[in-house]
Amino acid sequence: INNLSRLSEKQATAGQLAAGIAHEIRNPITAIKGFLQLLMGENTGNRIYFEIINSEIDRIEEILKELMVLAKPTKQKYERVNLHSLLEQVITLMASQALLNNIQIETQFDFTNTWIIGDNNQLKQVFINYIKNAIEAMPEGGILGINASPLVGDQVRVSITDQGSGIPEDILNQIGQPFFTTKENGTGLGLLVSRQIIKEHKGDLLIESSRNGTTIHVEFPLSSEQ
Ligand code: ADP
Ligand code: MG
Repeated sequence: INNLSRLSEKQATAGQLAAGIAHEIRNPITAIKGFLQLLMGENTGNRIYFEIINSEIDRIEEILKELMVLAKPTKQKYERVNLHSLLEQVITLMASQALLNNIQIETQFDFTNTWIIGDNNQLKQVFINYIKNAIEAMPEGGILGINASPLVGDQVRVSITDQGSGIPEDILNQIGQPFFTTKENGTGLGLLVSRQIIKEHKGDLLIESSRNGTTIHVEFPLSSEQ
């Protein structure tokens, strides 16, 4: 436990640094992309090269976007967040991707109004990342469960369950490390970013995985005002 907490402390600093660098790189990348579009308009030859450059720039932008979520929101942005409506919003966001992949989202919320304290966008990103992974874990479709229920000790737990083939034991200690991915187009940043945000929000994370699927449990302290 000692080692673990020291490790995550180190990552907090690294995460913030990464977010800062990502932010700085974004502007020049945007400029490069703009001029590339101009060149593409003027040149009819070399189309294939332009397209490769363009899609690689898109990929850089995607990585930067993920890293920028690690930037510390200013304290003022921590506000009371209605977890129920936040989850509803995230589910709406992900609905079309689920549908396209033949995935049915089943929710069970054991409350209607539960308030936690945090940054709305960061919290959304946490659930988006886990739901995305759950969808990607079920290429043949299936049921994605989202449960939320209060816990003893003024905590709330949200569990995201998929029917994928689970996280193989031999990579369990590698997932969540920067850029570790088993996907052809993965960034390997989702779990890292989510875990970092949960930690900043004084939450807890538990991963259960077997050959029949994976469940991610996320716990947050309740706001003292309910
Ligand atoms: P990415 O999704 O870009 O690969 P993540 O950090 O979100 O990056 O996930 C890292 C790796 O963890 C994935 O590539 C995958 O191997 C594994 N993983 C994460 N979530 C699941 C899941 N629900 N089921 C199976 N494997 C998972
Ligand atoms: Mg992911």
